Amino acid sequence: MSEKTILIAGGGIGGMSAALTLAGRGFDVRVFEQAEVFGEVGAGLQLAPNCTRVLIDLGLEEPLRSVAFLPDGTQMRHWKRGTVIGENDLGDAVLEKYGFPYFHIHRADLMRVLLDAASEHPGIELSTHAPVEAVEQDDERVCVTVGEERITGDVLVGADGIKSVVREALFGSESPAFTGNVAWRGLVPVERLPAALIKPKATVWWGPHKHFVHYYLRRGELVNCVCVVEKQGWEVESWSERGDLAELKNDFAGWHDEVQSLIDNIDRDALFKTALYDRPPMLQWSRGRITLLGDACHPTLPFLAQGAAMAIEDAAVLASLLRQAGTVEAQLKRYEDLRMERTAAIQNGSRRNATVFHMTGVKAWARNRAAKRASGRRLDWLFRYNALDAAGAPAQRTPS
Ligand SMILES: Cc1cc2nc3c(=O)[nH]c(=O)nc-3n(C[C@H](O)[C@H](O)[C@H](O)COP(=O)(O)OP(=O)(O)OC[C@H]3O[C@@H](n4cnc5c(N)ncnc54)[C@H](O)[C@@H]3O)c2cc1C
Repeated sequence: MSEKTILIAGGGIGGMSAALTLAGRGFDVRVFEQAEVFGEVGAGLQLAPNCTRVLIDLGLEEPLRSVAFLPDGTQMRHWKRGTVIGENDLGDAVLEKYGFPYFHIHRADLMRVLLDAASEHPGIELSTHAPVEAVEQDDERVCVTVGEERITGDVLVGADGIKSVVREALFGSESPAFTGNVAWRGLVPVERLPAALIKPKATVWWGPHKHFVHYYLRRGELVNCVCVVEKQGWEVESWSERGDLAELKNDFAGWHDEVQSLIDNIDRDALFKTALYDRPPMLQWSRGRITLLGDACHPTLPFLAQGAAMAIEDAAVLASLLRQAGTVEAQLKRYEDLRMERTAAIQNGSRRNATVFHMTGVKAWARNRAAKRASGRRLDWLFRYNALDAAGAPAQRTPS
């Protein structure tokens, strides 16, 4: 392909990662973000080696390491007794096995790292306050309408999240489905907690109809809490909706003392609540010169901690394919062919975990026995994936 201009609708983690992978392959890229500023609200993310592989290939290892926390494992624990149900090693074990680290990171820190890199790249033009309102295409070009402006390019990537306008333009409107789960997100400044109360592990407490996840962020200065409850009658999907601490406390009444300590010390000004939505896997992501990426095409429950990772993997595969010989249409078809099976497996696996994490009675007992036996193997299929090789593009960098 000759040099092309790629338009990206949406400047979240997916859109910004795609801007970097595409610009890194020599394309001119324009990113349109509807919000006033690029950014991410509160809370943390787990970045597994399948995704740090891509970020490190982009040259971002040093800035990421300076803000990340490196956990040494994961643990599943009993909601009331606190007993350890199952464990997986992270830390050095992951680095040795997969070649890339596992990071915990504040969303705002990841976004800052991506934004700094994108702002410095001469091939990337960033626009905020720029909602993509309409999209068109013919055999040669794509065109987006942003306010009064019509901007043309060679390819359009819809990285505009679960309520994607680009998706709707391509495939019609179909609302995402409320999954019956509500997630609380909060941060605990570590100095408020008794020393060594929280282990350096991504911990998930499994309980009846609920689960509670916590892990360190920002070099260990904060503990991120994600508290998920099956609830009906409240379906607001938002990153900025405030939550009420008393309601959260009531939701987790009777849970282990460590969980209570975390809830009691959550920063009240940074407690958010959102209803969790997803969609079943799509059968098609692209039409002509327009495709989708990230939550726009595979929104998922966060119960495998892989939503952002999938968006970052998409970005690597897409950029690699568009650089290879073949028409845009053919490469976008290859892109979905290469990505769909994995992303559908993660969407379906996350859905399954919603049931598994929240089991009760004898089912929970059987689950706990199975989890003990599976320790160490559970995450291999997620971590092993190499998005750089998937489309035949060798990694340029390895971790220091
Ligand atoms: C509680 C919770 C915990 C999670 N934990 C993890 C985790 O540990 N690890 C992990 O990998 N993933 C996790 N995820 C998933 C992850 O947050 C998402 O999958 C990821 O943020 C999706 O990125 P995206 O860029 O595709 O979409 P979004 O983050 O939704 O970004 C879309 C962007 O497009 C913009 N936009 C929307 N419409 C338009 C338009 N018309 N024009 C221009 N711009 C537009 C939006 O303003 C936004 O900036 C979690 C999710 C939740 C809810």
